[in-house]
Order: sequence, then structure tokens, then C-alpha cells
Amino acid sequence: MIDKDFDEKYRYDGKDLGVCCQQGRTVFKAWSPLAERVELRLYKEGTGGEACRAEEMHRKEKGIWEWEFPENLHGMYYDYLVRIDGKDTRTADPYAVGCSCNGSRSMVVELGKTDPEGFGEDTAPAMEGEQIIYELHIKDFSYDKDSGVPEPYRGKYKAFTLMGTNGKYPTCMEYLKSLGVTHVHLLPFFDYGSVDEAGDESQYNWGYDPVNFNVPEGSYATDAEDGLVRIRECKEMIQALHKNGLRVIMDVVYNHTYREDSWLQRMVPGYYYRYQADGSLSDGSACGNDIAAGRAMVDNYIAGSVMYWAREYHVDGFRFDLMGLLTVELMNRIRRELNAEFGEGEKMLYGEPWRADDSPMERGTQAALKENAGSLDNGIGFFSDDTRDAIKGHVFYEEEPGFVNGGRGMESLILHAVTGWRDGGASFRPRSCAQIINYVSAHDNFTLWDKLVLSMHNGESDFTRRYEDVLAANKLAAFIYFTCQGSLFMQAGEEFGRTKLGEDNSYCSRPELNMLKWGRTVEYAELVDYYRGLIRLRKKLPGLCDKSRSAAARIREKNICGERVVSFWVDNRDFDHSGGKWEELLIIYNGSFEGYTLELPEGQWEILADAREAGCCWGIPGGQKELLVKGQSGLLLGK
Ligand code: CA
Repeated sequence: MIDKDFDEKYRYDGKDLGVCCQQGRTVFKAWSPLAERVELRLYKEGTGGEACRAEEMHRKEKGIWEWEFPENLHGMYYDYLVRIDGKDTRTADPYAVGCSCNGSRSMVVELGKTDPEGFGEDTAPAMEGEQIIYELHIKDFSYDKDSGVPEPYRGKYKAFTLMGTNGKYPTCMEYLKSLGVTHVHLLPFFDYGSVDEAGDESQYNWGYDPVNFNVPEGSYATDAEDGLVRIRECKEMIQALHKNGLRVIMDVVYNHTYREDSWLQRMVPGYYYRYQADGSLSDGSACGNDIAAGRAMVDNYIAGSVMYWAREYHVDGFRFDLMGLLTVELMNRIRRELNAEFGEGEKMLYGEPWRADDSPMERGTQAALKENAGSLDNGIGFFSDDTRDAIKGHVFYEEEPGFVNGGRGMESLILHAVTGWRDGGASFRPRSCAQIINYVSAHDNFTLWDKLVLSMHNGESDFTRRYEDVLAANKLAAFIYFTCQGSLFMQAGEEFGRTKLGEDNSYCSRPELNMLKWGRTVEYAELVDYYRGLIRLRKKLPGLCDKSRSAAARIREKNICGERVVSFWVDNRDFDHSGGKWEELLIIYNGSFEGYTLELPEGQWEILADAREAGCCWGIPGGQKELLVKGQSGLLLGK
């Protein structure tokens, strides 16, 4: 019976649940307080075959079941038979660090044996003054034949270990490295259930459907049958990203499981999920179930899993899916534990500060929603849907424009966005702009290109056509969020006008629709260069990179210059000596379709970005009094 005393009675804070396999011994520990009997079964194979050994485990305190072998069982597979109310249920181990093909059996792993060469010395590149995150799906990265990646590695972890180039232009890692982004955020790569690991390569899923939280997904490995291969190849991917100067963020989904009938549920039925008063499952995730963050062992499980990926795989940060279903208390705890082990702020944390629907939270907990930003640690960021929608229009209504694509009355919203909503312009109060993740596109919803085509060429949308006004709006959208305070996030391919041909939810679409089409990096080279310039420039502007609580005070003289034209000044002085060259910046966004004539203020100004180029530096001839800011463009001046 799971009641309010359950946590008090059975809470176990030890860190040794799962299997510990070292030298000459292997210890199995399972948490199953409701069980009458637990049997451990060992197998030589991941699938099929009879158990080669079976042992009845010993019941210990706090609902723990334990069995120890005086030998090293590295490479063996196992599962449990759990008896509750006289009924035996087979389950894999929710704490497992290895598993069989499709994850239905767990695997005993001596983790040290899975390290690729040099992994012991692997470290993340030094943290830069700005975080610029690139959101990428592992299969999208190299599935295109034009990637030049050999077929066995296409769509796999291994593709990251190559300086992939097709001989004509840079692709994959070589391209990624040249962009200047600092973090690669990878869509879920823990073991998920929607792709058959024994099936063919035409399958596709984003992977927001976890099965084994602490094991890498098998379909990205060159061999899903041998449970050790996925572990080693996942580590190789992270090692390769680090070697190329990129930090790695893992997209994590602790708010629900693929099915309610999960290993967690089989171990302790009813404990890990939220239920409505009538006994039905709550569904705040819109995926069928909600994990009950706020309960002692749920929180221990989630925090332990995050620490495991950070420690064992050297993951540098975590993006929490539907963070609004988790609690402020849990998120702050994870922040504290990561800081304590790895140093303050060394591991990045951010998430979606919303949920699909209400969910009955544990008493005394607060949901990690945007409106509770003030209770979240300053080191926990969240996606700013306000900035996103102000720039390009509402995410669900395709024709609805924002500032860059013909929207009216967006001027003040845009000026609030510049300070990361720290000037009191929003219904929520971020503690500082360190909490704000600025973006205009992510895997969900339309790509930026598609949204712009739909809103600007409604009724005659041709996604493969090169529309000059869409290109200009894309550049301006990028220009705006790259000059807002907060951290920066972009969907892979946004910089070459990525299109999914108007599909706004491609989570299980064909890989050909989802994949990065490398030819577009050439076709839209001008746009790629513009982004590259913005990235380079951003890192040189301390007034915008400033994440302190007083950063908003650097934005001065915010002005609505006219319909769809705004300007502001930035105090760009380099208080912490990170090398800012210009003491003051003047920034203009012209969202209208006509040119705007700027009267140049006093002083020696240089043009750092305009409609055509970003990251440049041109002097303005003395005596010149005016500058034309072209329609649908931004201008950034420094002095
Ligand atoms: Ca899987």
C-alpha cells in the first residue's frame, strides 16, 4: 500500500542500486518494498535462451533486495522476477547501465571496460563567455548521403568521430566546428522505445519515449545486439565533440515513460506515477503518464540518473523535457549536486518551463514552470517562448506573424525581449537573464524557414523556393535574438533555411524529411555566413553576454522609432576584462518593409553588422550624418 508514510518507511539514499561489478565480485541491489520475493536470473544472451542461473535474493532494510556473486559477471544479461500479492512479474532493472537489443533484459557492465581509448583523459573544452547551443538529432546529422559519411556510420554515434566531408564542401563535424557554436544539444539518446533496434534504417523517431534511462539508445550504435557497443560508441561521440571544441548537452525526459508498464512500475506498482483522484493516470505530458517527481525515490532516481550521465559519459549539460512537470525542489537539488561535484555552473541546466496539461503535484512541491522562475536557482535556464513568438509569431497559428514577418504592435515586446524580460515587461520574473534561453526554432513546431514561408506567402507556400523576403526575415530574426541578453539556442539547420516542407510535427516522419540536407549549406551559404558572423560577433560583446542581475541596466534609451522600427543603446564596457572593444553599441531592428534613415549620433562609429553581413567591422567616413537601415534588417554599430 502506497500512502504518505511509504516514503518515510522505505526511502533509501544509498547510491548503489543496480549492479556493482568490479574485479572479482558482482553485487545486485533492487528496490522493491512491496515484493514478497525477488528472483535474479542470469543469461548468456540478450534475447532468447534460458536463464543459466537463478537466485532468490535476500531482503534487506528499506525494501532492498540483494544478491552478491564472488565473481565478475561483466557482459552477462539479467532480469528479475518480482512477486507481489502472489503474482510473479518479469522486469528488467530500471537502474541498469547496460541492456540487450530493444532493452528488455539488463546487462552487467564493468564500466571501465567500455571506455574508448583516451576517455580517461577526456575533458570538455573551456567554457566560453557565451553559451550558443545547437540542437541536433543524432540521425539527422549524418543520414544524408551528401554528408560523405560511409554508410555503416550514417545516422550513428560513430558519424561524430569522422571529420565528415564529401570532398566538395564541409559537412558534419567539420562544418559544425566552423560555425563557432559552443554547445551541441543532442535530442534524447538514452534508450527509447519507439524504434525497433533490430529493424531497418528507414525508421525514425525523436526519441522522447524513455525505456532505460541510464543506457544509450541502441539504434544509433553500429551493433545493437551487443550491449557494450552502444556504451562505447556513445562515449566516442562525446569524446569527439569535446576534441572539436564542443560541449555536449543531453536532452532528458524524466517526466514520463514510453509506456506505463515500465520497469519502474513493475518494480513498485503505483509508486512512480501520478494518478487522478479517480485512480486514472494523470497525463500532463500528453504522452499517457506523468512520473511523480516530488516523491523521495523518484527524485533520488532522477537526480542519480543525471549525475550518472555527467560522471560516466562526461555530459556537460541537460535539457529537461516538460520541466514544468518536475518540481522546483528537484531542479534546485540537481543544480546543487552538479555544482558540488563539478564546480558552479560547469554543467548547464535548462528546460521547457511548461507542461501539456495540469498534473497533480505532490503536496508541498512547486512545479518548475515559468511563473515560478523566481524560485528556481539562477543557474537553471528555460526556453523563452515570449521572445520566440515576439520575433516570428505564434508557434501554433501558422499565418500569425511576429516582428520580422509583418506583425504589427510588437515593438514593445521586442524591446522587453532584449533584456531577457528583466525590465518588468513580462508576467513572470526571471532572477537574471542567465535563466533565459533565446531562440526562434527548435525540433518542435515549424522550422523557422517554414514558419516564415507560411506566414509571408500564405496560400502559395513553396518551401523549396528561395524567397528573398523570407531570407531577409530569417536574417533579421537571427539578428534580433543574437542581440538579446540571455543564452542562445538554435535548431540545427536554421542557419541554412532548414525546411521540413511545412510539417510541424516530424517526430516520426521519414528520416529523409528530418535529416540535415547538406547541399543547402552551399545553396544558402550567404545565410550560413550571416549566422557564423553573428556567433563570432556575439562573443565580442560583453554588454550582451553579461548574465549578472544588473545586466538589464546596460540596455539604455530603448526607443520605438516608428512602426516596426526600434532601437536601443548597450553599455558594452568590459567590466570583467573579457576583451570588449567597443564601449557603446547602438542597435536598430527594422521590421518594416521600407528603409529607415538613422541620424548618426556623435562619435566615431563602426558598422559591426547590417543587412548583408554580420561580424564585420567597417568605419563610417567622418562627416557622414545619416545611415540607411534597409527594410527587414538590423544594424549594429559600435564605438
Ligand atoms: Ca531503444
